[in-house]
Amino acid sequence: MIKERLLSAAAFERAQQVIPGGVNSPVRALRSVGTTPLFVKEAKGAYITDIDDNRIIDFCMSWGVFILGHNNGRVSQAAVDAVGRGSSYGIPCENETILAEKVREAFPTMERLRFVNSGTEATMSAIRVARGYTGRDILVKFEGNYHGHADHLLVAAGSGVANISNASSAGVPDGFVKYTAVLPYNDTEALRRFFSEHGHEVAALIIEPVACNMGVVVPDEDFLKATREVTKQYGVVLIFDEVITGFRLAFGGAQQRFGIKPDMTTVGKIVGGGFPAAAFGGRADIMQVLAPEGPVYQAGTLSGNPVAMAAGIETLTQLSHPGFYETLERRSDAFIARLEEIIAGKGIQLNRCGSMFTLFFNDSPVRNFRNTQRSDQQRFARYFRNMLSRGIYVSPSQFEGNFISELHTDEILDYVLESIAQSID
Ligand SMILES: *Cc1c(COP(=O)(O)O)cnc(C)c1O
Repeated sequence: MIKERLLSAAAFERAQQVIPGGVNSPVRALRSVGTTPLFVKEAKGAYITDIDDNRIIDFCMSWGVFILGHNNGRVSQAAVDAVGRGSSYGIPCENETILAEKVREAFPTMERLRFVNSGTEATMSAIRVARGYTGRDILVKFEGNYHGHADHLLVAAGSGVANISNASSAGVPDGFVKYTAVLPYNDTEALRRFFSEHGHEVAALIIEPVACNMGVVVPDEDFLKATREVTKQYGVVLIFDEVITGFRLAFGGAQQRFGIKPDMTTVGKIVGGGFPAAAFGGRADIMQVLAPEGPVYQAGTLSGNPVAMAAGIETLTQLSHPGFYETLERRSDAFIARLEEIIAGKGIQLNRCGSMFTLFFNDSPVRNFRNTQRSDQQRFARYFRNMLSRGIYVSPSQFEGNFISELHTDEILDYVLESIAQSID
């Protein structure tokens, strides 16, 4: 059992006097799970240590960033070395090209790509490119999918937004979202129907190929295939938002795992090795519309930041070692098999893909956003608090995933399973 979080409570009080809600990203406030945040002192491997000196097993892992565990020795060293050479130039450096080449090795569909600072920027920019390329306006997204906080994407969005009742945001004018069409996830028929009526007006279809931001919701195989078919048929740019799934479900992300080639892809989270970096890219003929080659403008003061590039290069180097994903998958398989036994008959759904999983406190299968809304949030909140009291930080929302890293050893996972069993009881 962890110690009372007195110093964190004081730190939160102080933070609230200057930062809205005391946090720089809303879910961190832990409101929907009925508690207050712990403030972190340091993180290493599968553990975070809070300022009250509680050592806690992390299953959120900075929302999936740290597949190698927190503070990987060589990644941190690469970043420190880079800082010693200057932390931003506003002039090209070779590490930008080297990381771009590595990303393309993993994602051959990203024939050309550009770095930005966040997943939000990546999806925003990819959509602008798709609109510039097609000369069309309409964007299709799926209910419960989260693609960052750009105005035109905050329609029926997942992640932290899913905790807001109307699943949208104030401050977004109607006009900004009038070109965004929202379809239900995993509904092939609705997708085909929409495209048969409006396909020729659509610029892009953006999808989380595994919907991590409404919990982990895995696509039906024919649904994902259908996104490729209808977009091809109507000349629509298919964007896979692999900000979470990229370098997570396989080195080449969901598109490698499911064998589907999108026209454009966004990656983030893992790619910067814990620093603010993300990328968008795709077919060379599409990416050519970007300035300075073409008419679509996009830019960034810190884009391709040399520290983030160095950390990204070292991260992808380690991930490309033979057997990395096979080992992670095997360990996850064993964990999930035992978890399935624990939750059997308890009114809980286990959704899983590779090293990501979510427990839904829901008595029927979760295939789309409407299903997620039937989950018992109060029960989830109690589960979260109970796990935290045992020293385990699971992702603090029913609509997020948990992430197993290379450093979640069998010993750690044994303790987690035991704790889940007791918490549920
Ligand atoms: C996290 C995430 C984003 C947004 O990335 P930020 O770096 O938080 O802006 C976009 N799409 C998906 C699928 C994500 O998981």
